[in-house]
Amino acid sequence: MISIVIPIYNEEETLPELWRRLHNVISSWSHKTEVIFVNDGSSDSSLSILRELGLRNPGVLKIVQLSRNFGHQPAVVSGISTATGDAVILMDGDLQDTPESLPNLVAKWESGYDVVYAIRAKRKEFFLKRLAFKAFYQVQAKMVDLSIPLDAGLFSILDRKVIDIMMSMKEHNRYIPGLRSYAGFKQTGIIVERAERYKGEPRVSTRRLIKLALDGIFSMSHLPLKLATYVGILIAIPAFIVAAVVVGIKLFTDFASPGWASNLASTFFMGGVQLIFLGIIGEYLSRIYDEVKGRPYFIISEKIGFENPDTVKADSEND
Ligand code: UDP
Ligand code: MG
Repeated sequence: MISIVIPIYNEEETLPELWRRLHNVISSWSHKTEVIFVNDGSSDSSLSILRELGLRNPGVLKIVQLSRNFGHQPAVVSGISTATGDAVILMDGDLQDTPESLPNLVAKWESGYDVVYAIRAKRKEFFLKRLAFKAFYQVQAKMVDLSIPLDAGLFSILDRKVIDIMMSMKEHNRYIPGLRSYAGFKQTGIIVERAERYKGEPRVSTRRLIKLALDGIFSMSHLPLKLATYVGILIAIPAFIVAAVVVGIKLFTDFASPGWASNLASTFFMGGVQLIFLGIIGEYLSRIYDEVKGRPYFIISEKIGFENPDTVKADSEND
């Protein structure tokens, strides 16, 4: 069986179209399929639309209802936790990840890969956002010891063994593409064009996107912490030389000037550097704090449509 996990936050305008296209795809392949929609505390009519679709597609469409809005990554992880397939597909619910590319992902998985992720051929987003994504992937590639493929986001199919390993990583502040790479096994990417969002504005706020980008770096790398040492050394060496020169001037010449400007400049500089590194330590500290508190990463308030796991698509009970 294949599970498809889709997080949903206020997608009432997209859901009927998403289901229409998704249903087309899954009813034309021979795999037993479950589609798990995670309703991440939507405040529109997404849940009632899902319920209605669920009634019409028993055994196929399942709903995980979270107790409130937890955010994209927790929503995905909660969906994974309920998936029972031999492989799990992760995709967004705004039709940016096109259902029509699923057969290609599945075919690669069937040919023996444990992880097949979609590489975004073209992003159809505002150029500043595209630029920010590009910069992020570059910085991440430099900082993280692990090779996380460039421009590969959530959209992927993961074999059961990778899913089990990822679910055993209990950390908060999860960055799924990073954990997916961490798991290893046979991974590959296929190029998939990323479509435009079907309706509405992005549901992931810029603030959360920045948080995710920081998680992508701070949860996967210690380099920022070590940076303090490097910068310290870099500053200390010229500082020693300057100090020696200054003392020399003072002792052996008559040119010793009051020099408050250089004094002030170096004070500001050092102050700035120190604040930056306090900030970096803060980034790690807040993540450690989250771990220590050990609160649940997501809270499921209801599971709908999971009762009858034996009911399958009428014409595909043979695989
Ligand atoms: N989403 C969610 N919880 C949130 C924000 C978004 O479940 O708090 C869902 C959203 O409905 C969509 C997917 O996550 O299916 C990706 O969101 P979006 O398209 O806004 O993100 P972007 O395309 O900017 O990455
Ligand atoms: Mg989107």
